[in-house]
Amino acid sequence: MSWLKDFVTPKIKAFMGTASKIEDNLWTKCPSCERMIYTKDLEENLMVCSYCAHHFRLSPEARLASIFDDGAYESIDIVHVKDDPIKYRDTKKYVDRLKEARQKTGKNDAVSIARGRIGGHTAVVFVMDFAFMGGSMGLAVGKSIAKAADEAIKGNAALIGFTASGGARMQEGILSLMQMPATVAAITNLKEAGLPYINVFTNPTTGGVLASFATLGDIHIAEPNALIGFAGARVIEKTLKQKLPAGFQRSEFLKEHGLVDIVVHRHQLAGTLRSVLSYVAPEEATLNK
Ligand SMILES: [Zn+2]
Repeated sequence: MSWLKDFVTPKIKAFMGTASKIEDNLWTKCPSCERMIYTKDLEENLMVCSYCAHHFRLSPEARLASIFDDGAYESIDIVHVKDDPIKYRDTKKYVDRLKEARQKTGKNDAVSIARGRIGGHTAVVFVMDFAFMGGSMGLAVGKSIAKAADEAIKGNAALIGFTASGGARMQEGILSLMQMPATVAAITNLKEAGLPYINVFTNPTTGGVLASFATLGDIHIAEPNALIGFAGARVIEKTLKQKLPAGFQRSEFLKEHGLVDIVVHRHQLAGTLRSVLSYVAPEEATLNK
């Protein structure tokens, strides 16, 4: 009977494995209302649950296509830096983590930059990608955000940033922390040039990204129920030795307390950006509509 065990069983297992994989991709379970959603429908709905409006993570490409006029934009190369500047290793080598993240996402690092028109106004947009090492900010991300700000200055355009990040990339040590002042300086240059910066907080925006450029927007927009905070709620509760209020560090709570200006459903986000830009976009950019 060994042929049955050695030949047939692995084949059945392999078949069952593929079948359940297909099943996995076809349907997605909403973590909020726990309903099963047909993945294709979810993608067509910009990754928003049609039952409870839970906002899933959106890929940078889908994000860019959803906000630019007619979904048309031009990609701008991100800054490439030398990998693994401090030869870091934890349970895995940093170079191996980078390799994995690149294979998984098809990107070189955790940010994408693009230029296009939103409501006829030229805008440079950068989108952080949480799928790439938790959207963490190392040299490549920091320098690319600075590049996006420079491109906006060169083109006399507004800068819009979509943040999604666990914070600084610890595998780059002090070099990742240095991206906090570097990105702040880049946004300051943009403001000195009289150009607006709009930050859109997506789930989650935390750590060094929140504590640097993300909170320097002239306008702060947030997707519903996004986690926005510097330190984790548990750490704060332990330090303060008191229970935090419900909804602490979420978009709606932060709107009530003044950090966020607008909380908007993803389906209305492009319209909101068009409307905000109609007030704050530089005039030159609107002239060449
Ligand atoms: Zn749901």
